Amino acid sequence: MRTLYGGFDKVGATKTDFKNFKRDLNRYISELDVDMMIKWLLRKKNYMPNFSMEYITTEDGILRALFWADEDAKRKLSMFGDVVSFDATYQRNKYKMMFVPFTGVDNHNRNVTLGAAIIGNETAETYSWLLKVFREAFGRAPPVIVTDQDLAMKKAIEDTWTESRHKLCMWHIMDKLTVKSIYQIRDTWISAYYREKYMFGLMRTSSRSESENHFFRQFCNPECALVKFLGHFDSSIEAQRHEHKKNDHDTRNTNVDIWAVDFVLEDQAASIYTRTIFFDVQLEIQNGLHRCAIGKWEKMSDYLKFFVKDWDQPCTTFFEVMMREDEMTVYCTCKRFTQFGLLCSHVFCVLRMLDVREFPQLYILRHWTREAVPNSACGAILGMNERDNRYNEVNHIVREITYSTESVINKLVTNFDALCSFRDHVVNFFQTADEAVVNAPRKSRRERFAEITGNTQPSIVTVRVLVGTGYKGMGKPKRMKSKREIAISQNTFYSGLHSHLIKL
Ligand SMILES: [Zn+2]
Repeated sequence: MRTLYGGFDKVGATKTDFKNFKRDLNRYISELDVDMMIKWLLRKKNYMPNFSMEYITTEDGILRALFWADEDAKRKLSMFGDVVSFDATYQRNKYKMMFVPFTGVDNHNRNVTLGAAIIGNETAETYSWLLKVFREAFGRAPPVIVTDQDLAMKKAIEDTWTESRHKLCMWHIMDKLTVKSIYQIRDTWISAYYREKYMFGLMRTSSRSESENHFFRQFCNPECALVKFLGHFDSSIEAQRHEHKKNDHDTRNTNVDIWAVDFVLEDQAASIYTRTIFFDVQLEIQNGLHRCAIGKWEKMSDYLKFFVKDWDQPCTTFFEVMMREDEMTVYCTCKRFTQFGLLCSHVFCVLRMLDVREFPQLYILRHWTREAVPNSACGAILGMNERDNRYNEVNHIVREITYSTESVINKLVTNFDALCSFRDHVVNFFQTADEAVVNAPRKSRRERFAEITGNTQPSIVTVRVLVGTGYKGMGKPKRMKSKREIAISQNTFYSGLHSHLIKL
């Protein structure tokens, strides 16, 4: 507020006023927390296109589990949902409920959140419900699902997503289990087993899991009320999506240095892959050209077999690259392609020797390309949805206004007087705009809290949580009194004087 208004003296409220406001806001939230969160998400479901939200309660209205995913998450799942990880390792909140995010990897090799849930217990029944609503929301289950070693989750996946393959996350295994028990469940983690499916690096785990943990811990404060949590969750997801757009923008609008000018595949890779992925491919090409050599090669019945020495690897054996030149199919025993969906230095070494001039199309996975995400539609207008009759018309006018305002500002920015005159014109229009909307009476503080928390439709509380405890900043756990109660409890002379003072 100080920054916004240009000094403490201009804010017009004291530090105590702010503290009291925060205390009253927290009290308001604690009365209605879960119910507000549910209603907030239900409103999104009603008004936002393609928003999914499901929840279950016990017979007495205690929340058992809640799942939600928006349109953007669904679009991302259709592109990056080959391998999805989900686990409940995050801290429980003040109601002892667990936050469960679904995470994939985007075309810039960054984590992307594909949906989220809050669950009251970690039973197979709850997980089965969660997987069922996930599939209903997204229309399919991911082909590969990566989790921690939770047995209830394992059973739920086997029962509910029969078509999916379940993998354990190495990071969680190393973190939680003893060596002996890791050995007992070896069939679900040994790396050779993983290599049968594209994993897009989702298993290359400790740094990825740590960055994911860091991302979620920003808003998984155990003291945090659910409705506040949802607010923090939304802003973090917005930041994640902004980062993705920025990476897309950097890929499209920056140039890279090509190292191997005489090897055309590197230049082609620069225009195929996103920037981050290209740097990885570039390094493999560089290693293929300078750190690998073909020891010998054999002509088999219908393919060529190359024995490639790699000085970057500690092993003394050769990697074997099998290749059919007529259909441009290639396979390397290091299995980098099956593991990450990207060709290895050994294959590039062979491609160089054979003087291949076109990047092998079969080995360009859409997942890593710059075109993986089509340009999304222009941002939706607040308070309107696509089902409104005049949606397109309104969208068109909004675009016209935005475009012409920007152009006018750009033109007038060097002409101070004209710029001021335009500002006056726009500011004057505020009054016209105010008159165009219905004049509402001044809002009470409770109504303002309702607006801040998004709880704008008054109704009786229908969903609750099991435990309700006080937390920091809430003050003493007493009920907020209405204005009427306060007036009755005080004598009329004092309250009359008080309201007179307020008017003054
Ligand atoms: Zn290889």
